[in-house]
Amino acid sequence: MKNFDYLEPTTVAEACALLKQHGSEAKVFAGGAHLTILMKQGLLEPASLINIKKIAELKGIRFDVNSGLTIGALVTHRELETSALVREKCPVLCEAEREVANIRVRHMGTVGGNLASGEPLTDLAQIFIALDGQVQIVGPNGQRTIAVEELFLDFYTTSLAEDELLTQVVLPPLPARSAIDYIRFSSSSVVDKPAAGVAVRLTLAADGTIQTARIVLGCVGATPVRARNAEALLMGKKLTGELALEAGGIASQECKPTSDLRGSEQYKRAIVKTLVKRAASAAYDRAK
Ligand SMILES: Cc1cc2nc3c(=O)[nH]c(=O)nc-3n(C[C@H](O)[C@H](O)[C@H](O)COP(=O)(O)OP(=O)(O)OC[C@H]3O[C@@H](n4cnc5c(N)ncnc54)[C@H](O)[C@@H]3O)c2cc1C
Repeated sequence: MKNFDYLEPTTVAEACALLKQHGSEAKVFAGGAHLTILMKQGLLEPASLINIKKIAELKGIRFDVNSGLTIGALVTHRELETSALVREKCPVLCEAEREVANIRVRHMGTVGGNLASGEPLTDLAQIFIALDGQVQIVGPNGQRTIAVEELFLDFYTTSLAEDELLTQVVLPPLPARSAIDYIRFSSSSVVDKPAAGVAVRLTLAADGTIQTARIVLGCVGATPVRARNAEALLMGKKLTGELALEAGGIASQECKPTSDLRGSEQYKRAIVKTLVKRAASAAYDRAK
């Protein structure tokens, strides 16, 4: 790796000032699980690394009945996996984290880095989008909040500006009769990045018909994508096996998988169809 300056701000304001000062020459460094690989491969050669690990404001997981679950950008995969609070309020995250990478990456990698890298083969974004999650972003000009979905623009490209920090993810409380299921599928080995990951969140009316549906497909395109046509199909209906499969078929045409080592485009569409069917059925049964 090339030599670089190493800076350690202790507040968000200080970090943003450093990012503004160093511009495109600097990179935010959190767990380094993603960044270190790119630097070792010579794909990134930042002149300065701004290590944010000493910023206390970016740590911790909190719950409030009105705002929901707040997850600091520096929370690691392992913290999410093992948090008693997350297990109580949003157990799908603990379950999903058990399958993320391996224990070493889970100890180092952070939620903020997972989202800010814009890497397509990841797990958390699908779940956050299905839960109508928002990310808080702070820059030199203040704070803004956007839907998690709006963060992702293209392969490894997000809507974060160079001098902005992602500070936290907020997951609002779910309405009554809601449930979510997330299923990921790795085609080579269980510790490999997923070939596809599907989150389905359903909210039911009192009579058991589907009032709100979120079907989010990950790893099958440049960014996570909502399968809006499949969601529309489910609205106002009670879920049956046939309907879930039909939704899966529609969803499988709403993504843009590429053929690669993890499977052909056709194979990944078939996986999406099945995962949507299974996740929708599981979410429906749980919501009832
Ligand atoms: C072997 C391996 C397997 C993996 N498997 C999976 C998997 O199965 N599922 C999955 O979801 N992920 C997987 N990952 C990805 C991993 O989860 C992410 O790389 C990790 O969470 C990144 O977090 P980090 O803190 O290490 O980010 P870093 O490497 O520190 O940073 C990543 C990028 O985000 C930027 N950044 C970091 N934090 C912030 C912030 N708060 N604000 C603004 N920009 C920021 C950095 O500048 C950099 O561009 C895998 C990674 C590896 C190496």
